Amino acid sequence: NQEKLRQQLLQLDGRGYKAYRDIEGSYEFSDFTLIVDRTQGDPFAAPSHFRVKVAGEIAAFPPQLYQTKSRAIALRDYLTRQFDLYARSIGKRRGTGNSGLIGITRIGQEVLERTSVLIDDEFVEVRFVVGLPAGGRRILGHQAVEMLCEQIPQIVDRTLKYYHLDANKIQHHVEVVEDADWIRQQLTERGLVAFIPNGAILPRRSGVDDQPLPNEAVAFQSPKSLQVEFNCPNQGLITGMGVPTGVTLIVGGGYHGKSTLLRAIELGVYNHIPNDGRELVVTHPAAVKIRAEDGRNIVGVDISPFINHLPQGKSTTNFSTTNASGSTSQAANIIEALEADAKVLLVDEDTAATNFMIRDRRMQALIAKDKEPITPFIDKVKQLYADCNVSTILVMGGSGDYFEVADTVIAMQNFQPEDVTAKAKTIAQQYTYSRTPEGGEKFGQITPRIPLPESIDPSYRQKQVRLKVRDVDEMVFGTEDIDLSAVEQIVDTAQSRAIAAAMVYAVRKYIDGKRTLAEILALVMADIEFQGLDILTPFPQCDLAIFRQFELAAAINRLRSLSVR
Ligand code: ADP
Ligand code: MG
Repeated sequence: NQEKLRQQLLQLDGRGYKAYRDIEGSYEFSDFTLIVDRTQGDPFAAPSHFRVKVAGEIAAFPPQLYQTKSRAIALRDYLTRQFDLYARSIGKRRGTGNSGLIGITRIGQEVLERTSVLIDDEFVEVRFVVGLPAGGRRILGHQAVEMLCEQIPQIVDRTLKYYHLDANKIQHHVEVVEDADWIRQQLTERGLVAFIPNGAILPRRSGVDDQPLPNEAVAFQSPKSLQVEFNCPNQGLITGMGVPTGVTLIVGGGYHGKSTLLRAIELGVYNHIPNDGRELVVTHPAAVKIRAEDGRNIVGVDISPFINHLPQGKSTTNFSTTNASGSTSQAANIIEALEADAKVLLVDEDTAATNFMIRDRRMQALIAKDKEPITPFIDKVKQLYADCNVSTILVMGGSGDYFEVADTVIAMQNFQPEDVTAKAKTIAQQYTYSRTPEGGEKFGQITPRIPLPESIDPSYRQKQVRLKVRDVDEMVFGTEDIDLSAVEQIVDTAQSRAIAAAMVYAVRKYIDGKRTLAEILALVMADIEFQGLDILTPFPQCDLAIFRQFELAAAINRLRSLSVR
């Protein structure tokens, strides 16, 4: 019990740091259980893993707050934020290295399913890390008592008990997330791929601060012709702009808010906290951002719908390179997204390869088709919808060629959208461009790939796999660094960590040299959906967050050791 832990810590005072291992185990406190899962071996090492379990009747959350998956994720998110805030406010340094740290997980504007807090009728469980205190490399027993026997009970009391929390705020948090999920569910039957409510605040404070831009932000207002309504379960009637299926073009002058709109749509696959400004901006869950990414590794991808007869007879039905060009990388990014079952492609001219996007009449006249391997996206974007039911939202301020193929054209002017579809179509008729369509009548097939297990297994038959996530976009997997900086829909380091763990899980369980990548992705995602993220790690951790099959595929596809059949 608690007293035993106190005595034990006092006895450890002054001893070598490794003796902290003796406290691993579980302890009954007056109204919760403290579990020490793993202690660190050194004050400078990654901090120790702890858990607290509070009985349901003591935490006393009304079941309506966690009875549906949507609500439970929102409540768990809320509690994670409370724990984080409060732990920070009372935390202090208590010696060398991480001494004194009580941390849960870094958390941004998105509401994601996480492993930090779990809740059901029986327990609220919270996981966190503790930097066990040391002076030099000696145990500071008194400091440890203060942390474990005083601070932790205080944090638990303030952040995991319903009566100490703001009931209205919790209710609102849960309801907003539920409404967003609800709208997202309705999109397909309403013939939409994205929704941006009137009043939404899309711009962010800065490129490194994802909070809403205060003061000067212009609130979003839908043009009448694109306006749709949703009657949400909690907030009632919500009006805003619906982006229809098909090909949508976002045009407008430079600096008029095109990329900001697209970015909000990209992140609309996730929910956001109330007052984020994008909390009801929702996007089809299978929407994938596509960009050029020169230098990336590509393994055995059939990019022939876009690229043919490369110099030196290089195959494009089974294309590999260690150093892709802008256009081949963008082609591979599209094919890989389709392989993982993407339903919407999101493209911004700012990060697209020009020669992949357009090839105008004059260039067609100068460079004959048999000297140009690329079939530009403009000739494939309609087929993608017609043949594969894949919609595209494309930011393109620089070329009117796309007027011809667009179903909807939205112009951003002074940060406000206008429906200019009819105008654009008239202009397309007035100034005919008489390009010759390229690349045939059909989009073509996606050739399945089968990843070979020995090419992915990072352990080379060792027991432990070296996994390390330095940042959202940088992962160490075995002996390799995987660069995820161009995978723009990974928003949280906890997602990257979960993806790394999922790669190991996939290798051990499903990658057998027979299953296709698409099958493997579906199996892993189903396991996570039904059994939770905990199946990815050997012991309970606080810092995993949910990801989509697209981002898992992106990590596997960027592995330089990968080989496929
Ligand atoms: P574009 O892609 O059209 O060139 P951006 O989307 O990059 O334009 O936006 C240009 C600048 O305007 C950015 O600094 C962005 O934060 C800001 N911005 C975008 N939308 C709004 C808005 N609704 N209100 C205020 N500022 C905005
Ligand atoms: Mg832009």
